[in-house]
Amino acid sequence: MMIVTKYGQLKSHFISLFEHNTDAILLLDTDGYILDANSAFIELGSYAEEDFINQHFSKFIVNDTDNNEDQQQLFCEVDLLDLRFTFITKDNTYIGCLMRLNPVKENETIVGYFLIIKNMTKLDKMAEQYLESELNYRTIAENFHDVLILMDKDKNYLYVSPSSYDVFHFDHTKINDRNPFFNIHADYVDEIDAKFKAAIEKGQAFQMKLKAYHEKKGWIWTEIKGKSIYNRNGQFLHVLLIARDISQEREQEEKLKHLAYHDMLTSLPNRRMFVEQLEVAIQRLDEEKRPFAILLLDIDNFKQINDSYGHEIGDKVIIEFSSRISHIVGERGLVARLGGDEFVVLMKDFINEEQVVDTARQINELVKQDIQIQHTHLQITTSIGISMCNRETFTASQILRYADEALYHVKGMGKDAFSVYRVK
Ligand code: GH3
Ligand code: MG
Repeated sequence: MMIVTKYGQLKSHFISLFEHNTDAILLLDTDGYILDANSAFIELGSYAEEDFINQHFSKFIVNDTDNNEDQQQLFCEVDLLDLRFTFITKDNTYIGCLMRLNPVKENETIVGYFLIIKNMTKLDKMAEQYLESELNYRTIAENFHDVLILMDKDKNYLYVSPSSYDVFHFDHTKINDRNPFFNIHADYVDEIDAKFKAAIEKGQAFQMKLKAYHEKKGWIWTEIKGKSIYNRNGQFLHVLLIARDISQEREQEEKLKHLAYHDMLTSLPNRRMFVEQLEVAIQRLDEEKRPFAILLLDIDNFKQINDSYGHEIGDKVIIEFSSRISHIVGERGLVARLGGDEFVVLMKDFINEEQVVDTARQINELVKQDIQIQHTHLQITTSIGISMCNRETFTASQILRYADEALYHVKGMGKDAFSVYRVK
């Protein structure tokens, strides 16, 4: 063999090491041209001797830069070096490899190189699997406080994590005799069933918010994320569900929503909620011909209350006023504070105009009654403009304008009364 003829001085055990090494080895001259290759190289690349003898080694590799000049340059500069690169086989298959260049020296002069090429496919695969399993581990670790549930395709519980005790006060060892989704509120069972099915049949991951049963607290808001888990061959294994108590988040959301839709001073619905409800009422009028009415109220001479008793008492009067109107309207309508001393009542489900007028009359009477705040006694009156909505052509702003015109009329006529807007 060539190595013997050209480097006859190599000892026979080196030749054996070269020939029988499981890594591919090339013997290169000082410029990187191939003088010989071992059988592992021939096997790795499926090359015949004439394919590589006297060819530059760079013909068989691609590195990241994919630049042949760089590779030649690199070759001149490297001494012992481990490099990742891609080896190209005769049928153009790419194999991830590790390359090590060992100089062959004769009397301290480099006369050539051994280029050792290690096939990294298996090691790379192992590293990949390790990362994958680490990722799985991380998913579990990150959700440690959540409840992990594994279910088979028939919705049998395969596993429930012990954290179910903290979250639902449920002892996970008692899962075997439980029905599928046993602790999910009936309102959500159909939806989670459908999503579970889609996770298995279409591989769709899902996320939903629902009420689940806590053995002590009762129904609690819970978020459930679900996805199908497959093995490496793509075969379905089970569905992984991660359940989390979101009752606190939900409470916070409700608080924020309440703030956005309510008046701070009286806790009544604010203008925003009123306008939304008015739009709903208009839509119903269109679709179901259900009449409704709005009563626009403004306290008479309220500035005087502020001026005489101060802003703080003024605030308390507004609160008392709001509670009196709410008391009269009750379930028959929505009372909202539009701002300042201006309120509105949206009356739904009344049968005739007389009922609306009667409500207005009751409000006028009740607000007039003595108001006592600490040691202060005072009286107020209110003016009310009414807009009856029993035709289909109204818009929200039209309805409000009509009520405002009626209110303006009452103020002009001496206040402390109501007036119904009549289309001219
Ligand atoms: P009118 O009979 O024409 O309704 O006259 P009014 O004095 O009631 O005056 P108007 O309704 O035009 O104005 C309402 C006043 O209410 C204006 C403002 O000083 C006062 N006001 C507005 N918001 C508040 C509040 O939150 N608290 C208190 N104390 N006063 C308010
Ligand atoms: Mg006023």
